[in-house]
Amino acid sequence: MTAAQDHLATFVQRPAAMTALMRGFMRKCPNCGNHAAFSGYLTLKKECKGCGAPLGLIRADDAPPYFTISVVAHIVIPLLLVVEKLYAPSMLVHAAIWPALTIGLTLGFLPVIKGGVVGVMWSVGLKGDEHH
Ligand SMILES: [Zn+2]
Repeated sequence: MTAAQDHLATFVQRPAAMTALMRGFMRKCPNCGNHAAFSGYLTLKKECKGCGAPLGLIRADDAPPYFTISVVAHIVIPLLLVVEKLYAPSMLVHAAIWPALTIGLTLGFLPVIKGGVVGVMWSVGLKGDEHH
């Protein structure tokens, strides 16, 4: 058993998935909910400074972008269709609105969704791919 695995084994009591998900959406530590889980936009802290949970070991990989694409597409595509149906704006207007909205929503949702994914992974004891 490595030192990291040994350290992880001390966190036997995990929060429920929904609790950890909500803490993650708030970008808080999924284990205690009291301290920031992120040190940057998408960078997890190595450890929670409150409870010591080794958040840096959790590898969410491409799950957050995958869920983000799904959420953003379900907002932008129906909006685009409704705007086209109601107002039939010129292509120039479409070209001005949708890429900007898509980028804005993606950048807004991605860190929140990553927090949620990391929260659920912590709750169920998943660390993700350790071969990176
Ligand atoms: Zn914590």
